[in-house]
Amino acid sequence: MSTKPKKAAKPVAKKSVAPKGSATKTKKKEADKKAQKYPSLLRGMKDILPKDEQFWRNMSHVGESIAESYGFGYIETPIVEEAALFVRTLGKGTDVVDKEMYLFEDREGKKVSLRPEMTASIARAYIAHGMHVMPQPVKVWSMGPLFRYDRPQAGRYRQFHQFDCETIGVHDPGADAELIVVAYNFLRDLGIDTIVHINSIGTLDDRSRYLVELVAYLRSKRAQLSEESKARITKNPLRVLDSKEEQDQPIIEAAPQIIDWLSDESRNYFMKVIEYLDEMEIPYMLQPRLVRGLDYYTDTVFELYPMDDEVRSQNALGGGGRYNGLIEQIGGQPTPAAGFAIGLERIVLELRRLEEKALAEAQAAAVEGVIPEAVPLPPKIFFAHLGDQASRRALSLIEKLRREGVVVLHRIGNNSLKNQLEFANKNQVTHTVILGQKELQDGSIIIRDMASGIQEIVDQKKLKRELERILQRFAAVDTK
Ligand code: AMP
Repeated sequence: MSTKPKKAAKPVAKKSVAPKGSATKTKKKEADKKAQKYPSLLRGMKDILPKDEQFWRNMSHVGESIAESYGFGYIETPIVEEAALFVRTLGKGTDVVDKEMYLFEDREGKKVSLRPEMTASIARAYIAHGMHVMPQPVKVWSMGPLFRYDRPQAGRYRQFHQFDCETIGVHDPGADAELIVVAYNFLRDLGIDTIVHINSIGTLDDRSRYLVELVAYLRSKRAQLSEESKARITKNPLRVLDSKEEQDQPIIEAAPQIIDWLSDESRNYFMKVIEYLDEMEIPYMLQPRLVRGLDYYTDTVFELYPMDDEVRSQNALGGGGRYNGLIEQIGGQPTPAAGFAIGLERIVLELRRLEEKALAEAQAAAVEGVIPEAVPLPPKIFFAHLGDQASRRALSLIEKLRREGVVVLHRIGNNSLKNQLEFANKNQVTHTVILGQKELQDGSIIIRDMASGIQEIVDQKKLKRELERILQRFAAVDTK
C-alpha cells in the first residue's frame, strides 16, 4: 500500500469535523478488538450456567431413577468414534451424514467423527463386548453430549445432550411400548405433559415396495415441489415426507401412506404396540407421515411433543423406534432392537415456556381476583445465620443436615436477615432455619414457614427431627 493516501486522509479525521457518534463507533471498535483477544464461544455451542443448574441436575436425577426403575443399566460410549460407524448405519443421503457430522482425521490419518447420536455407538458396544451371550434383552441407558454441524436456531445447537434408552435383543411389541412409556414418564416426571406421535414404517421389504410407489408419485408432482424435496426424490425419498416447506405440504398430504403397504406381520405388530399404549393410557396420535430421518429404522417409529404446543412439527422433544437391521449391518448377528433419545436442551426450553405460561396465567388470575391453586414446592430449606459465631455453628449444623439427606441452601459471608430471606424466596424454599446470636446462646433455633411467615422456636438438638417432620408433611402434599 502507498503511504500517500494515509497522509491525505489525516486532516479529514479531525475530531471537530467527525460526525456525531463516530467517537462511540471507535470505542465500540476498540471494545470489539479487545473482545477478540479472548477466544469466543463457537457458533451453535452453549455454556450451561449455574442459573440452569436445577434443570440439569433434575434431568440427570430423574433420568437415572426412571431408567433404573425399568431395569436399564448405565452405559457410556466414547464421544469420538470411527466415522464409518455412522456413515454406514445412519445412511448416505441423510442430513446427519451428508451435512452435519463433525468429521476429521486423527493424528494417524484415521477418519473419525464426534458422535451425532448414541444408538450406533451402543450397537457397536453391544457387539464389541459380546453382549448377545447375556440374557436378552440387554437394556441400557445413557446421557451425554452429541454433535451435529447443523444451522443453529432456537432448540437446535451444534453440541446438545440426550437421554437415551435402548432395548437390544427382542422383537416384541411390549418392548416398544415399554420404551415409549419410559420416554413419556421421564418427561412427565420433569413436569412436561406430552403426546406420542406414532407410526410403523414396516420391514425393509415393506419399505422398498412402498418406496417404488412413493417415488413414482413424487416424480409425477416434481414441478410443484421445493428444490430441497426435488433433490430428495432420488437421494432419500422418505425424507420428502418430513419437509417443512409450505409448498410441499399439499403434495405430502396426498402422498401414498406407508401404513397401507405393511405386511400382515408388521401391521399386527403395530396394532399390538397400540393396544399396549391404550392399556397404559398413554396419549398418542397415529401419524401416517412420520418416518424419522435415519435409514436404520424398521416397524415402530415415534416422537414425543408437548401436549399443548401449537407449533408441533418443529419441536419434537424426543423420538425413537425399532431398528432390527442395525446390529447386523455393522457386523453383528441379526439382532432386533429398539430405542429412543430425548433432547435435554429442548426440555429446558419447554420447562421455561411452561414457567412463563404459568406466570402469565397466575397474573391474569390475579387481575380477575381469582386465587390460583397452590403449587406444591419441592422440600428444601434455607439456613440463615447472623454473626460470626452463629455462622460457624450454622456450618456444622448444615453439614449434619446434608449428611442426613436434607437439601440445605445458605449464603456465605455477612448478610442481613432481610437479604438472606430474599435469597431464600428466590430459591423457592419451603422453610428457612434462622440462627442468630440469641438462639446461639439459649440453644434454640427458629423454623420459618416461608409461605405463611409463621415461625416456630425449637431446640437446636431437635432440629433434624423437626425438619424431617415438616419436610415429610410437604413430601406427602407433593405426591397427592
Ligand atoms: P434425533 O436423534 O434426531 O432423533 O433427535 C432426538 C431429539 O434430540 C430431538 O427430538 C431433539 O430433542 C434433540 N435434538 C436433535 N438434534 C438437536 C440439535 N441439533 N440441538 C438440540 N437438540 C437436538
